Amino acid sequence: MFKAFLIKYGEIGIKGKNRHLFEDALIRQIKYALKPVEGEFQVTKEQGRIYIEALGAFDYDEALASLQCVFGIVGICPVVLAEDEGFEKLAEDVAAYMDARYPDKRKTFKVETRRARKSYPLTSMEINAELGGRLLHTFPELKVDVHNPDIMLHVEIRKKINIYSETLPGPGGMPVGTNGKGMLLLSGGIDSPVAGYMIAKRGVKIDAVYFHAPPYTSERAKQKVVDLAKIVAKYAGPIYLKVVNFTDIQMYIYEKCPHEELTIIMRRYMMRIAEHFAKETNSLGLITGESIGQVASQTMQSLAATNEVCGIPVYRPLIGFDKQEIIAVSEKIGTYETSILPYEDCCTIFVAKHPVTKPNLKIIRRSETHLQEKIKEMVKTAIETAETIIVEADMDP
Ligand code: ATP
Ligand code: MG
Repeated sequence: MFKAFLIKYGEIGIKGKNRHLFEDALIRQIKYALKPVEGEFQVTKEQGRIYIEALGAFDYDEALASLQCVFGIVGICPVVLAEDEGFEKLAEDVAAYMDARYPDKRKTFKVETRRARKSYPLTSMEINAELGGRLLHTFPELKVDVHNPDIMLHVEIRKKINIYSETLPGPGGMPVGTNGKGMLLLSGGIDSPVAGYMIAKRGVKIDAVYFHAPPYTSERAKQKVVDLAKIVAKYAGPIYLKVVNFTDIQMYIYEKCPHEELTIIMRRYMMRIAEHFAKETNSLGLITGESIGQVASQTMQSLAATNEVCGIPVYRPLIGFDKQEIIAVSEKIGTYETSILPYEDCCTIFVAKHPVTKPNLKIIRRSETHLQEKIKEMVKTAIETAETIIVEADMDP
């Protein structure tokens, strides 16, 4: 019965000229989210409201599911948009709405009218009373409850008349693109896709970088990362993914440095390379899936050692999350099933049995001097040979 949605969004922090930036970004992300959905849609902005109208047949459930991925949306109201052809016609439209939407009439209701157009011949109170009376007359099983009704029937007198009674939850947050851009270190694990989702939720557009170590990590491991990026792209929009061949650097570290320091030193090189790409593409920070104490390389000391090489902020949105909490988010956003596929990960291939958990910065720096001869050239090559993949949300959800 519905051909349109009314989109409600948060207004905090969007006063003044930021407001239209926020709205334009929201409209852009809505259009992106609806692209793979069957049907054609028109997205319009009017008097601080965003409307989505289907032009012809469309897949309602799919459209709704896609809208529920758009950050910045607080509520989604399936709405009937009626032309204003006088009060008698409005009363008919409202009765038809109730009849179609609530076949079982053993319910309580309340009419809540808002007039954005003050020239309408009846006041909001008069409309409430008149429509309420007529509904009771047409559907004797209905009852009025002004305090806690089953059905809150909204009638809004705008350019068109809006009739709706449901608000489905959106994901909240801010539209992607309203808060700059960040570079996500995306591995095939559970954590980093969730970290990307959480930062994108705050309006940050994301690019990503994946460190690949062929032949130790397979094409399937790389494909898994692309698949994860596709899922994150449903929320974050298209993601420019850099795939860096990290094998030579990793082998060289393995050869020259103490094995228990391998993970930390590797992580430091990942950060350096990620920062290079971040600066090149105007990302304002790095994003990782680290959480304090989760593994040896994520103790406070290890994080400090990793951080030391970064000249731009490193955002770790999962820092205070337990693994179970991270898993819960990954299940909610749909990355979990892909993350747990068993393909090898470059960090697990050469891991030491007893990695340092409290790395000493002086010692780490000294170990890195063993790499002096070739590392600069290797980093340069890794950067120059990186592959860029533009990852779009999956077209068949
Ligand atoms: P994840 O589940 O994200 O893989 P993890 O718990 O396995 O995380 P680590 O392997 O210690 O943790 O990695 C910590 C963080 O470093 C990851 O969340 C990710 O941001 C980054 N990272 C690790 N390996 C890679 C990689 N091969 N490519 C890109 N980033 C990586
Ligand atoms: Mg990992």
